[in-house]
Amino acid sequence: EVNAMSDCIFCKICDGTIPADIVYEDEHCLAFRDIQPKAPVHLLVIPRKHVASLDDLSDADRELAGHMLLTIPRIARQQGLEGGYRTVANTGKGGGQEVFHLHFHILGGGTPKPL
Ligand code: 5GP
Ligand code: ZN
Repeated sequence: EVNAMSDCIFCKICDGTIPADIVYEDEHCLAFRDIQPKAPVHLLVIPRKHVASLDDLSDADRELAGHMLLTIPRIARQQGLEGGYRTVANTGKGGGQEVFHLHFHILGGGTPKPL
C-alpha cells in the first residue's frame, strides 16, 4: 500500500531521499553497503520496486526475481569477492527480517561461520 512504501527506508534509498553507499545500480535493482556490516564486505541488493519480502513476489515478478539472482554474482565479482560469498534473504519476522523491502544480503571477504 501507499503507506508501506512511503515509510519504507529502502524505497527512500531508491529515490535518493536518504543517502546510502551505492555500489551498483541498474533499471531494476541497486546494491549498497549495509550500515552495520557483519562481514568485511556486506552489501544489500534490492529491487527498485517495493516488494516486502520473498513471500510477496508474484508470477508478474518472474523477470525481476531472475534479474536479481543473475546480478548478485556480477556485483560480487565487481566487489572483488573472487574467493566466494554468502547470499542471505531473511523472510518474515520469524526469519529475522527487520526491513520489509525485499533484500539479498551479500556477505564476503572474511571467514564465514558455518550456518
Ligand atoms: P534484515 O534483518 O531485514 O534482513 O536486514 C536489514 C539490514 O538492513 C540490516 O543488516 C541493517 O543493518 C540494514 N539497514 C537497516 N537500515 C539501513 C539503512 O538505513 N541503510 C543501510 N545502508 N542499511 C540499513
Ligand atoms: Zn520499499
